[in-house]
Amino acid sequence: MKAIVITKDDDIYKSELTDISEDQLPEGNVTVKVDYSTINYKEGLAITGASPVVRKFPMTPGIDLSGTVEESSHSEYKVGDKVVLNGWGVGEVHPGGLAEKARLNGDWLVPLPDAFSPKQAMAIGTAGYTAMLCVMALQQQGVTPDKGEVLVTGSAGGVGSVAIAILAKLGYTVVASTGRASEEAYLKSLGASSIIDRNELSEKGRPLGKERWAGAIDTVGSHTLANVCAQIKYGGAVAACGLAQGMDFPSTVMPFILRGVVLHGVDSVYCPKEKRLEAWKRLATDLDTTHIDLITTEVPLSEAIPTAEKILKGEVRGRVVVDVNA
Ligand code: NDP
Repeated sequence: MKAIVITKDDDIYKSELTDISEDQLPEGNVTVKVDYSTINYKEGLAITGASPVVRKFPMTPGIDLSGTVEESSHSEYKVGDKVVLNGWGVGEVHPGGLAEKARLNGDWLVPLPDAFSPKQAMAIGTAGYTAMLCVMALQQQGVTPDKGEVLVTGSAGGVGSVAIAILAKLGYTVVASTGRASEEAYLKSLGASSIIDRNELSEKGRPLGKERWAGAIDTVGSHTLANVCAQIKYGGAVAACGLAQGMDFPSTVMPFILRGVVLHGVDSVYCPKEKRLEAWKRLATDLDTTHIDLITTEVPLSEAIPTAEKILKGEVRGRVVVDVNA
C-alpha cells in the first residue's frame, strides 16, 4: 500500500511517498481503508520538519482521515462502517491518514455524520472541526450576534475560512483579517462583511486599544493575538487556537483585568469525545455544504508533500483534501 513516510536518521529528516506492507501498520483494534485525508498546517510542520510535531519515527503523517472499517474488534464499530478521525496524536506519535490504510484505537473514531460524504468530512477536517470548537467557545462566553463584530484572523486559511462560514450562517457580522487582499471576494463569498489587512495587527501594539470586537477567533498567535485581546470590547472573548505568526504571546494582563476579556484556549487533538460529537453535530447544521465546496481543493497523495510545503508559506487557500487512492 502507498503511504507518506517520514524518517529521521542521523539528523537527516526525510518525507517520501513510498510502498509499505500492511504488517507495518501499528497495533490497534480497528483497521480503516482510508478514502481521504487532508493537509492542515500541522502536516506542513510534520512533513517539512519545520517544528518537532513528529515524535516517533518512521511516521506516516495525517492527523485526519475518513474511510471505511475493514477489520474491527471494537464494540462500537463493525466492518463497512464509515468513520472519521481527527487528532489523538495520530500523524504525530501513531501512523496517520496519508496512507491507503490506517490501524487505530476505535475509541478515537467518530461515525461519519450523515450530512457529509467522506470527502466533505475531510474538507472540514481538523481545521473545520477546530473552527466549530472556536465558535462554540465564543457562544459559551456569551458572544452573541447582537454584541457586535467578530474578527477572524488567518482568515484565508483552513480554520479561518470555515470559521467565517459558520459565524456568518449563525448571523454574526464577521470581519476577516488577511494578508491576501486578493482573496477579498473569496472571503466575502463565505460571509465576511469586510476585511482588514493583517499588518494592522501583526506588530507590537499598546496594552489596551480602542474597543472594537465583540469576539474573535485567532489562528495566528504572537503580536496578533496580543493586539486582538487589546481591542476586545468589555466582557468579550477570544477563542485562540493557532500559531501561524508565532507561539509567543507578548500581551499584558490589562484586557483581562480592566475589561473582563476572556481568552479561551481551544484544543482539538485531545478534545473529549462528547465534545467532538457535539462539534460534528453542530457542523452538520451550522455549515453550508456549498461553502464546503467553495473552500476545498483536492490533490492526489503524490502531491501531499509539495502541498505541505506550500501551506507553511501561506500559499494554500481554504482546505486541501488528499485522495489517498489517486
Ligand atoms: P492555514 O495555513 O490553512 O492557515 C493559516 C493562515 O494564517 C494563513 O492562511 C494566513 O492567512 C495566516 N498566516 C500565515 N502566516 C502568518 C503570519 N506570519 N502572520 C500572520 N498570519 C499568518 O492553517 P490552518 O488553518 O490549518 O491552521 C491555522 C493555525 O491553527 C495553525 O497554527 C495550526 O497549527 C492551528 N491549529 C490548531 C488546532 C488546535 O487544536 N489548537 C487545530 C487546527 C489548527 P491569510 O493569508 O488570510 O493572512
